[in-house]
Amino acid sequence: MKMKALIFLQIREDLVEENTLGILNKLIETNPSIEIHGALLRDQIKSEWVEEAGKHGVKKIHTVKASELEVYLSIPYVKSMLEIIKDIEPNLVIAAGTVYGEDLIPRLAVQHGVSCAERITDITFDSGEIIFHSPVRDDQVMKATKIVGPIKFATTRTGAFFVNENPSGSSPEVTEVSVTFDEDDMVVKHIEIKKAERTVNLKDAKVIVAGGRGVGGKENFQIIKEIAKLLDGEIGATRACTDVHWIEETYEIGQTGQSVSPDLYIGAGISGAPQHMSGIKAKTLIAINTDEGAPIFNYADYGIVGDMHLILPILKKKLEG
Ligand SMILES: Cc1cc2nc3c(=O)[nH]c(=O)nc-3n(C[C@H](O)[C@H](O)[C@H](O)COP(=O)(O)OP(=O)(O)OC[C@H]3O[C@@H](n4cnc5c(N)ncnc54)[C@H](O)[C@@H]3O)c2cc1C
Repeated sequence: MKMKALIFLQIREDLVEENTLGILNKLIETNPSIEIHGALLRDQIKSEWVEEAGKHGVKKIHTVKASELEVYLSIPYVKSMLEIIKDIEPNLVIAAGTVYGEDLIPRLAVQHGVSCAERITDITFDSGEIIFHSPVRDDQVMKATKIVGPIKFATTRTGAFFVNENPSGSSPEVTEVSVTFDEDDMVVKHIEIKKAERTVNLKDAKVIVAGGRGVGGKENFQIIKEIAKLLDGEIGATRACTDVHWIEETYEIGQTGQSVSPDLYIGAGISGAPQHMSGIKAKTLIAINTDEGAPIFNYADYGIVGDMHLILPILKKKLEG
């Protein structure tokens, strides 16, 4: 029998959020026959979102349209998802592990009396079984999880999956699901959204130039910033640098920092600790390190053994033409 997945379609800045698109790519890649349903919950549903989800492989979209769903609130979102789950009886319910996905999916799992696989970085299908894979113990060991029960629930680690840049799906079928909300569903009220003052979004950066302890000090981050700018990219850092305030915490990449999936990642003066590397899924990784035995070279597509303080100025000059 064909497997059925229900994905919570998250919208960010008026677009289908990219980790959500990454999950779609992963599901189709690993199980081409899977039937993918999408849940789109909002006060207004835009046709562009529906089309985008269809292009990336969603066959059927179930919408719940209500003013109560204008912004994410746990209870009305859970109620809507439960209604959709009841209608379509999926084998898998999955969402990107954003703050919303991580709030919603475990609540749905609890409602079904089962546990939830959280922050997975891979999913495999084996003779009708779904196996979730996630890194544990400071990312040094991979854990494979099977969940008991007819419906499996999972969230993914952000940045874990690439988005298909040439999706070829078609317009999905759309079904409107009617859900009514009463006062008890709205005990938590949305008042206002305040944008954070700093908006460093490394997740979407196509190029990241990152520095580690080898940078040697706050002022030396200047050249990292200049090269990132020349490449139209962002800067990143290891915890070794953010801990000592060479650079703001918001630039930290890794287990406790942001997960990133750029096309190009240049790491200078970074040893390649698993806690840092686990946050990176780069198409091309270039490492610059004085120690030829540094673990980062095991991850690198191109490695330069040498002093970053000599190499980065040469690179900058080249980029400036
Ligand atoms: C629970 C937990 C969570 C963590 N989460 C994170 C996380 O999210 N992100 C993260 O980054 N870390 C995290 N860490 C810390 C992590 O374990 C490492 O300590 C950290 O990533 C090391 O940073 P680094 O590579 O900059 O420093 P180091 O490991 O000290 O490496 C510095 C490197 O620079 C090289 N070097 C020195 N001088 C030069 C030079 N002039 N030119 C070129 N190379 C040079 C050295 O050879 C060395 O390889 C976590 C740790 C724990 C325990």
